[in-house]
This record gives sequence, C-alpha cells and structure tokens, in this order.
Amino acid sequence: MGSNGNGGLSPIRRHYNFCAGPAALPAAVLERARDELLDYQGRGLSVMEMSHRGEDFVAIAEQAEADLRELLAIPDNYRVLFTQGGASLQFAALPYNLLGAGGRANFLHTGIWGKKAISEARHLFGDVHVAASSEENGHSAVPRQEDTVLSADAAYLHYTANETIGGLEFDYIPGSEGGGPRRPDGSEVPLVCDMSSSLLSGPLDVSRFGVIYAGAQKNIGPAGLVVVIVRDDLLDQARSDMPTLFGYKALAEAGSMVNTPATYSWYLAGLVFDWLKSDIGGLAAMDAINTRKAARLYAAIDGSGLYANPITLRNRSRMNVPFVLADPRLDRPFLDEAEAAGLLNLKGHRSVGGMRASLYNAVPEAAVEALIDFMADFEKRRG
Ligand SMILES: *Cc1c(COP(=O)(O)O)cnc(C)c1O
Repeated sequence: MGSNGNGGLSPIRRHYNFCAGPAALPAAVLERARDELLDYQGRGLSVMEMSHRGEDFVAIAEQAEADLRELLAIPDNYRVLFTQGGASLQFAALPYNLLGAGGRANFLHTGIWGKKAISEARHLFGDVHVAASSEENGHSAVPRQEDTVLSADAAYLHYTANETIGGLEFDYIPGSEGGGPRRPDGSEVPLVCDMSSSLLSGPLDVSRFGVIYAGAQKNIGPAGLVVVIVRDDLLDQARSDMPTLFGYKALAEAGSMVNTPATYSWYLAGLVFDWLKSDIGGLAAMDAINTRKAARLYAAIDGSGLYANPITLRNRSRMNVPFVLADPRLDRPFLDEAEAAGLLNLKGHRSVGGMRASLYNAVPEAAVEALIDFMADFEKRRG
C-alpha cells in the first residue's frame, strides 16, 4: 500500500483511505508530526502541551496563516480566522455576523449541506430566501446562474461549492462579471461559501467572496478546526445579540485566540500547508493532480456495466465521487472485498447509500489506480 510512514521502525501498514471526513492526511505530514510529537524542535515538549500564547505556538500559528495566504493568494483586505465548532457552527455564526443591518439570508440549495445551512438560518432568524435550487433535478446539476433570483432584501448569498454527500460541484462562482451576486435592483451582496470539501483542491479567486469557510477535516487537517476567510468590511455587520465566540471581529482582533484555540489541529494544518507548498508545488500543481485522479475514476465508472454516477458531467465533484452498483446486493461484498484489499471507507453516506470515494488532496494517485483495478476485477468476477 501507500507510503507506510513507519521510518523502518515497526511494521506499520497504511491502507488507502477514501473517507469523506475526517479524511486521509499526507503520510509526510504524519511522519513529521510523529517526529516532533514528544519534543518539538528541541523545546522538550509537544505542541499539544504548549501555551497558545507562548512564543513558539504563536510562531507556528503565524506561519500557518502566512502559508495559507501564499497558497491561495489571499488579498490583504481579508482576515483569516482559525476557529472551532465545525463547519456546522458557521451555519449559525454567519447569519449572526452578517444580518446586523437586517435583511434576509439568501441561499442556493444544492444538497444536504446547503440544506442544513438553510435550516439553521431559518431556525434562528425565521425567514430565509432560496434564490435557486437543484431539488427538482434531484441535485444532479447545479442551478444555472440565470435562474438565480435574489430577494430585494438579500443580505448575502450562501452556497456550497462542493456538496460532499451528493458529489455535486459548482463549475462557476455565482455572481456578476467581476463582482458579487446582485439583488433585483442591481445592488451587490457579499457571496458566502461553504468550501469544507473543496478549499485547497486548486487555485481560487478569493476576491470574489465575502466569506469563505471550511471545516478542516476534509482537505486541511484534523477535525477540531475551521478556517474562515472574511473580507474586512464585513466585520462590522454583526447583530449585537451574537455569542462572543461566534464573532468574526472579535476573533480577528484576538488573532483567533478569544479563548484557547484547537492548537494541535492548527499546527497540523500548518504542516499540510507546508506540504502543499514544498512537496506538491502549490495549488496549480495540486489542481492538475486532482483533475487527473477524478477523470480516471469517472472514466472507469462510465466505461463499466456495473457502476454508475448520476451527476451532470460539468458538475461532477473532483473530491467526492459517489457511485452505485447495478445490483445493490453486491454492495456488501464490494465493501468487504475492498476492505480486504486495503481500500477503506468506500461506503456512501448513510442518507444516500451506494458507494463514495473521496479523493482529497492527500489521497495519492496510486490509491485511485488501486481502486480502479479493484473495481474492474470485482466487475469481472461478480458483475
Ligand atoms: C463536512 C461538511 C460540513 C460539516 O462539517 P462539520 O465540521 O462536521 O460541522 C459542512 N459542509 C460541508 C460541505 C461538508 O463537507
């Protein structure tokens, strides 16, 4: 299987992990974390045991932010927050932070995560406006830009760039040419995006967005950390009844240390950013690898008589590839045999069934090749 990450010490065998999240981490990152686990750079203690306000951790935190800024070419008028509570907590934090002047949250509804964001905003603040939805086509294609109609009182437009469960990914950034989405009267509103399962999968024009957020456990690092990238001018739009820890402004002013941050997850995210820069060569290189991986797997699915994926070609997710077997009675043997072959976590989300192979940055091309070989062999024997 892949790089065994044991430094020749013990018989560690790392399998290929296609988990949707918490997801695979690069073996090189885990090896470095292992090497630094007990004694971080001669300090005689672990990063886990350091004060978050001490010089060493502050340096780790600042380097992580600097590397993320460099990878995504984040403009200076954006703040980067390293916060907690999962992406799901942002479903609540966003309306609190952005509805201070009234108005309604607007949404594009393209699947289960987007729906959860809608439900939370509705639960907290009553009315929301769904500006477009792909519900009618079973979330097999994202709404067309021209079918998106914001409300006159829209405060912002929220969407999910990649629906992790359905495997549906936007092939465009919603909004007007060179600007944000517009209300019917032509005025612009900030674009807000849940990029939990696609941030860092390739280059991104951050300047198109008001807020970008992502839970770390897909493409950034271990669970327990959320990255929020927010444009400066949106820090003063919050409701006054907001819980302190939700506040982007408070987090920005405190360097994300309003309270104790998820220090070890932050450190590991920093190692992942460094890996992307140094080992991969940046996000353009990562983008090319991800495109290759996904294209190979979709070609194998489309070329088979046993496997199928229902998503419109241009909206097929590069990160999460769901597929079904023509005979669902083969699901169990497929999963059992895959696991025996060292191909882990291919079971689809409990709400949709079937299979799902998540191909995040840390899943090597060799893993995809091994999966394709296994699928072809399984089809020959059982299909
Ligand atoms: C995983 C995921 C979430 C939820 O993340 P939590 O950290 O579990 O709250 C939200 N949105 C998307 C797109 C996801 O992939």
